[in-house]
Amino acid sequence: MKSLIVEDDFAARRFMQIYLAAHGECSVAINGVEAVNAVKLAIEENKPYDLICLDIMMPIMDGIEALTKIREVEKENGIETLDAAKVIITTAKDLSSSTFGDFRAGCESYLVKPIRKKELHNELEKMGILKPKYQI
Ligand SMILES: [Mg+2]
Repeated sequence: MKSLIVEDDFAARRFMQIYLAAHGECSVAINGVEAVNAVKLAIEENKPYDLICLDIMMPIMDGIEALTKIREVEKENGIETLDAAKVIITTAKDLSSSTFGDFRAGCESYLVKPIRKKELHNELEKMGILKPKYQI
């Protein structure tokens, strides 16, 4: 599983990186601009990301704008639906009680920070992108 962590907070980034690196290649971007560039590069290299963990609040370009652009880049390259990256939004607030309807349509899931290893693991398992043999 090739993953991209997009997160401006070092501690949150490091936590996810340790977990995800155990499952394959794991890259890090610290804002939305880097994230979009990382996605473009991966597609150019013919190795698109399977998973993107995307923070909402980031400097330069936030997660909402980044997600829109990432989906555009995928579409331009003919990558859609099942082939597109699975996106988990990471957020400090509960999206289910807010008005993020359109935004949520562009992602598969979201996790409220601080993220726990078990929750992240369960989401990946639900998405079917973890190797079944792996045990936490
Ligand atoms: Mg942030």
